[in-house]
Amino acid sequence: MAHSIGSKPLLLKNFNLHEILNYSAKFSSATGNRSVAANISKGLKLFGDKFVSKISFTEPDFLRNDDFFIQGFVKAEMKKKVTYKPSVQIRTTCQVISATCTCPAGGTPAFCKHVFAFLHAINDYIAKKLYEALNFFRSHFFI
Ligand SMILES: [Zn+2]
Repeated sequence: MAHSIGSKPLLLKNFNLHEILNYSAKFSSATGNRSVAANISKGLKLFGDKFVSKISFTEPDFLRNDDFFIQGFVKAEMKKKVTYKPSVQIRTTCQVISATCTCPAGGTPAFCKHVFAFLHAINDYIAKKLYEALNFFRSHFFI
């Protein structure tokens, strides 16, 4: 069952930029560092311009897998009405295992700018401790 991060905290407290860079390093030999680095920086811009929305996730069940599966929406840069759906698989240790995207550039595993925009959004959510905000509001406003 998928949960919105607005209804349940995503507890990957040690996720940080290093995990994004470790994931990107998988592609450096196959594609050349430049294209991956460019996608990381384009992704950061898409995230900064608020192109990422509706983050939801399924939790690890610790029987079949130890991974969170996190998905969301990223608006296309040029075509405003087009939305792509990146999905990332992150272990409870915060290691990014794999990613996919519905855009034309998104193979499996994907390293397109939408995947990196999405990883930046997750990083921001963790860095700002937004997972604590939900419990705070719940305890104060009984929602
Ligand atoms: Zn993509």
